[in-house]
Amino acid sequence: MYLHRCTTSEEYALLINSPAFATRWMIEHHLARTHAGPGPIRIPGFCTVCQQAVDFTASYDNAWRAPDGVSIPNWRDYLRCPTCTMNGRQRLIVQLIVEWVMSLPQRELVTIYMMEQISPLYRWATTTFPRIRWIGSEYLGPNCAPPSQPGDIRHEDAEALTLASESVDLVISCDVLEHVNDPQRALTEASRILRPGGRALLTFPMDPNTPFNQRRATLIDGRPHHLLPPIYHGNPLSEEGSLVFTDFGWEVLAQLRAAGFDDATLNVYWAYELGYLGVQFYFLGHKSSLR
Ligand SMILES: [Zn+2]
Repeated sequence: MYLHRCTTSEEYALLINSPAFATRWMIEHHLARTHAGPGPIRIPGFCTVCQQAVDFTASYDNAWRAPDGVSIPNWRDYLRCPTCTMNGRQRLIVQLIVEWVMSLPQRELVTIYMMEQISPLYRWATTTFPRIRWIGSEYLGPNCAPPSQPGDIRHEDAEALTLASESVDLVISCDVLEHVNDPQRALTEASRILRPGGRALLTFPMDPNTPFNQRRATLIDGRPHHLLPPIYHGNPLSEEGSLVFTDFGWEVLAQLRAAGFDDATLNVYWAYELGYLGVQFYFLGHKSSLR
């Protein structure tokens, strides 16, 4: 797997204009251009979750059109393993969790908070590493009292977590932050619940060509007020989907640092054989151990 760590837009620009990226784009373009038929593109590879060779499938949901007219799949969200159904972003999170857990001397002492509970990723995590203390939650609505009964879905508001300060070793949040009203508050909460030396592993859509965040909506008296045409992302708990409040730009790295993460990075990854295609990245924040 190729992994590039960026802390500034300048570093990212150098990377994206490098020969390595041109080659990747040619491979992806070739896959799309030579694909015959209306069905999904099949790409043989190895699933890090299933630990076996699979044919990944890329559908044309939310595909985009290259300047030469070729339809390019949305690799980030729709290049899936047919067995575990996880997309590349989720399989990458699995890989990072495995690498981190395997590096621990005593994994039974670790607490990991994941901002999801009804998901293949959370099910995988709790069954694969049953000795780790996992805490999963979903946002169930503005009037839910956290936390709910044992065995139930745990409700948590990312902007006001009920978890104790310095009680968690790793926070994992996958495509949640764009849906909260105040991302800075949510990042500060993630930092608060982390022990010194802990880390946050985050994914959310971010436009690396944009310096600043843009607000799409804001809550006024508990109701969303739209500043830009509303966009919703799929949500298994809501037919309407989840409203996008923020389009992120590079400002989010400064927000991570302001939240107490001394080291905040955008990490670009790519691996043909693992089905990580397109320009994809995750964010990592390290909370200083010197507190
Ligand atoms: Zn799989």
